Amino acid sequence: MSKKYDVVVIGAGPAGYVAAIRSAQLGLTTACVDQWIRNKDNKPALGGTCLNVGCIPSKALLDSSEQFHKAQGQFPAHGIRMEKLNMDVGVMISRKDKIVSTLTSGIEQLFKANNVERIAGHATLLPDTKVAIGDPKSGGSTQIVVASNVILASGSEPTPLAAAPVDGARIVDSAGALEFDAVPKRLGVIGAGVIGLELGSVWRRLGSETVLLEALDTFLPTVDQDITKDAARHFKRQRLDIRLGALVESTSLNNESVHVRYRDENGTQELEVDRLIVAVGRRPFTKDLAKPEVGLKLDERGFIEVDEKCQTNIPGVYAIGDVVRGPMLAHKGSEEGAAVAELIANGHAHVNYETIPWVIYTAPEIAWVGKTEQMLRQEGTPYRVGAFPFAATGRARAMEEPIGSVKILAHAQTDRILGVHILGPHASELIAEAVLAMEFSASAEDLARTVHAHPTLSEAIHEAALAVDNRAIHKYTANPKK
Ligand code: FAD
Ligand code: NAD
Repeated sequence: MSKKYDVVVIGAGPAGYVAAIRSAQLGLTTACVDQWIRNKDNKPALGGTCLNVGCIPSKALLDSSEQFHKAQGQFPAHGIRMEKLNMDVGVMISRKDKIVSTLTSGIEQLFKANNVERIAGHATLLPDTKVAIGDPKSGGSTQIVVASNVILASGSEPTPLAAAPVDGARIVDSAGALEFDAVPKRLGVIGAGVIGLELGSVWRRLGSETVLLEALDTFLPTVDQDITKDAARHFKRQRLDIRLGALVESTSLNNESVHVRYRDENGTQELEVDRLIVAVGRRPFTKDLAKPEVGLKLDERGFIEVDEKCQTNIPGVYAIGDVVRGPMLAHKGSEEGAAVAELIANGHAHVNYETIPWVIYTAPEIAWVGKTEQMLRQEGTPYRVGAFPFAATGRARAMEEPIGSVKILAHAQTDRILGVHILGPHASELIAEAVLAMEFSASAEDLARTVHAHPTLSEAIHEAALAVDNRAIHKYTANPKK
């Protein structure tokens, strides 16, 4: 007889594992099926892309490389001098692996503690919310379970590029770029998006001559353009060589290197690198996820079609995370996971898609929430701008990081905060205040009247909010508000 559950979740990334834990917390009998096999020990691992080859390992390497970079570039200003600085890449990679295994086994413990049944294997949705589960390695079907509700959280995979097929050694995707055993002397990156900038930064800080080839003429078009202009300046200073309008036509492997041919406004160009990272986006992963007779609807880009409550076209079947519309971010998927569990258990749930923060973990970090100035201009919304540089805060000076700024966009009539954009130290942490303010529909005046501790980086948010009303204190204000 088939085993029965209230909820079966397919995928144990940040969307799926959160959905499973919250479902179990709400008293629903829950199983979570995941097919991830860790390369290093050939064992099943929870956490999906984010924990195994995404958010966490990339941040571990970003942190290690930033420490190295600071030791080289900033320590002397503090009076700390070292004779010779070496980077042991093997130790850096093992540290990263240890963090990953600690966190993935943490989810295993959470599943046990919450009575989520973990099933390692490939799951396929059958008609009548039944799920066939096959062996994760052979793919053969071993059991069929029955669920009242199925949550699809199968995630995404790197988009391949025909002109640069990944060979796993010299041409790699983002997962391969987390495993280099030495610092490549010359590194090429196709795509100057989030992954290109983060992983390009890791290896640049350790010494790689790094060239990023970006097809578009605009750098980070979805980010506020004041912020990107300033960010581009800092990246140039770090010698991240970002070439815009560069369309890769072909690559070929030589003995030890990769030859890249690309076209830009001046014609065909050539580039020789030791390693090439392909980071041109990610696409939804739905391979063998549902039998054709189920009739699961996908949109024209391959995402599972869902409504605002993450319901698919099949009753009792939901989809969340990277496999559905919206930003491909771990926290977006997790919020959807918790919301769908609530929906199943209690009949109501809500995710506020207007206040999902974005962070690019470069140095300086870039973080934002809400609308950009170019979006507001395009939609014709009247707005006021308040900006404040970190250089004018005591804390950033004391930290030897007086770079970047905070920019707040508020509605010209209601003063409601419409967007907050930060370039600077710890922007990833600072953005939380802006998210909370927007979640509570705060005005810039609300932030301006909130006491911020001194000296902290958050004072830049306070001053930017004051600047919306033309009354910032720690920068000269012409014709200040009386
Ligand atoms: P995934 O994490 O992809 O998990 C899906 C899981 O489902 C996988 O384990 C997969 O094996 C399993 N699966 C798929 N199909 C089946 C099936 N049929 N049966 C069983 N199991 C199946 N996001 C951030 O918010 N912050 C970051 O800093 C960040 N950094 C990133 C860095 C890199 C290098 C990359 C690649 C991504 C990064 N992301 C980041 C994006 C983030 O990883 C994704 O948004 C997130 O993992 C999506 O979660 P998910 O649960 O939807 O899917
Ligand atoms: P991306 O969409 O951020 O960037 C891809 C870039 O590649 C774009 O700028 C695009 O114009 C460019 N591109 C596309 N085709 C090209 C070509 N043929 N030649 C040259 N350039 C080309 O995608 P990504 O960097 O691969 O990351 C995928 C997703 O993963 C992100 O969108 C994000 O959702 C998620 N992610 C998030 C974080 C984070 O939150 N910090 C970090 C990494 C990844």
